[in-house]
Amino acid sequence: MISRSAVLTKINEIKILDLNLPFLKRGQVLVELKYASICHTQVQEINGSRGEDKFLPHCLGHEATGKVLKIGKDVRKVKKGDNVCLTWVFSEGINAGGSIYRYKDKKINAGPVNTFSKYALVSENKIQKLNKNSNLIKSVLLGCAAPTAFNCIFLNTNNTKQKKILILGCGGVGLLAVYASKKSKFKEIAIVEKYKNKISIAKKLGANKVIKEKDVQKFRDKFDYVLECTGNPKIVNECIYYAKSFGGKVFIIGNYKNNTMLKIDPWQLLYGKKISGSWEKKFNYDKNFKLFEKYLKNFKCKYLFGNKIYNLDEISIALEDFQKGKVIRPLIKI
Ligand SMILES: [Zn+2]
Repeated sequence: MISRSAVLTKINEIKILDLNLPFLKRGQVLVELKYASICHTQVQEINGSRGEDKFLPHCLGHEATGKVLKIGKDVRKVKKGDNVCLTWVFSEGINAGGSIYRYKDKKINAGPVNTFSKYALVSENKIQKLNKNSNLIKSVLLGCAAPTAFNCIFLNTNNTKQKKILILGCGGVGLLAVYASKKSKFKEIAIVEKYKNKISIAKKLGANKVIKEKDVQKFRDKFDYVLECTGNPKIVNECIYYAKSFGGKVFIIGNYKNNTMLKIDPWQLLYGKKISGSWEKKFNYDKNFKLFEKYLKNFKCKYLFGNKIYNLDEISIALEDFQKGKVIRPLIKI
């Protein structure tokens, strides 16, 4: 089967190629992709900032929706004709690993999930079933940005009505965290963000305090929860200061370059502050997918995708717009 795909051929070079897909293995699902989006993980893979890439040349992407065309042996989660969400998030099902696609006589690696392709072979444990009438554009966010933000806010915070949260960075994950914090009825939802368009969206989603980057130092020991969503090495080292002593908690959920080191003043930990990643507890997406889908129902995805929909041939333009801050999360129609 021939599939038009965006391939990372070498660092900073993406080519659209007609790839030849192999037959389905046990535990794999053949998906016809509908929509996909780009997050900072792909940007880092493309520009090489995740360190040495042993899989080049390879396909990309981990946040998409599509339709099942065929299932491999022993697949139980989905069947032909189902609408599905493709995700990297820890899920049940067979771990079928990746595939090798071909371009002429060259091997092209494809991970267990890959999304910038007309068709893709996806491992059963990287798939969630959607309803017949699910919105295939909005549901793209259930692949990466929404579960990352929702897991943090809905499953790892408590007594929110009495608490204050600070969200550093309002990209896709940060804005979904603002939305989730509003739904959780936090007493105060503060943000730090330099771009005006993102600030204005964050306010619409429920942020009730905007702190300028230069002023954030004044807010030491003020917040019950601090979410670091910037990926900025300077901010990640400072964010623990804004959490309250004796009970304040920091979640690190940004995307960091390879070899980024976290530098912490140990006194901050001695004062009873906690620091954690976004996936603090063992997480099973199958148990939470329907819940997260429900939480996402009232979210206006245009806040993240904007008005432009890119096609697959425009993926390099989408990436450029994303990095320049012209779009918060580019949506690609496959
Ligand atoms: Zn992602």
